[in-house]
Amino acid sequence: MVGMLPVGTRPDDPTPRLSFFWSLPVAELDRAAADEHAWRGSVGEVWPEAMECLAGTAVPGGLAQARYRDTVHSAWHRGRAVLLGDAAHAMSPQLGQGVNMALLDARALRDALRAHGSLGMALEQYARGRRSHIGIYHFWSRWLTPLFQSERDRLARVRDLVFHPMSRVPGGRGQMLRVLTGTRRGWLGTMPLPDAFLEALDGCRARQGAPSGTVQLAPDR
Ligand SMILES: Cc1cc2nc3c(=O)[nH]c(=O)nc-3n(C[C@H](O)[C@H](O)[C@H](O)COP(=O)(O)OP(=O)(O)OC[C@H]3O[C@@H](n4cnc5c(N)ncnc54)[C@H](O)[C@@H]3O)c2cc1C
Repeated sequence: MVGMLPVGTRPDDPTPRLSFFWSLPVAELDRAAADEHAWRGSVGEVWPEAMECLAGTAVPGGLAQARYRDTVHSAWHRGRAVLLGDAAHAMSPQLGQGVNMALLDARALRDALRAHGSLGMALEQYARGRRSHIGIYHFWSRWLTPLFQSERDRLARVRDLVFHPMSRVPGGRGQMLRVLTGTRRGWLGTMPLPDAFLEALDGCRARQGAPSGTVQLAPDR
């Protein structure tokens, strides 16, 4: 898998930045970037247009290694200790939900601590609520990983044939956005978004001159 993500600017530098990612099996990590020429050749073969953006990137010095794994715990808390974020539920980054989920964990823990005088009950409510949301994301990220990051080229061809057209089927785009915004709950349920948030979103669209409703999450908001 190869890609670039716009990541904004630095506080003291208005240059827009891109984060570049290139994924490999862990066993190949150290060897892959050791030979700069070969590495640039492999990237250029897959994505020639990216080479211009990477011209100023030192190899391997300008590349950081990141590893990930699936984390599944039978319990998220014991005594006064509680797990949040990746410690509770690390998953492959296919759906780009790790930060969303970690922030939602923090909010749910805050709410549970405010609602219950008993620490045990608060941690239980937090864990139950968050697990019921995260379960489907764990499932999807695990099952989608081989479609994006594996040597199974046939699966990748099926992915290309199915995913793009699916985003154009009426209702399909909204459903995909539901998943990608982290607001799916279970197979078909949704997490309601606060009215104030939706109004702020409409305000952003209006300021950018986009017709309201260009990006619709789903008819049920
Ligand atoms: C390649 C890759 C791409 C990703 N892409 C996305 C994406 O596009 N969108 C998205 O939402 N998420 C993405 N993620 C996932 C996201 O980075 C994580 O889900 C998120 O950072 C989890 O936050 P966290 O606070 O739980 O853990 P972390 O961000 O891992 O923070 C844990 C912190 O604890 C520190 N620490 C560890 N041990 C100790 C110790 N003993 N004492 C003190 N400090 C310690 C660590 O140094 C670290 O700073 C990606 C992850 C990877 C690996």
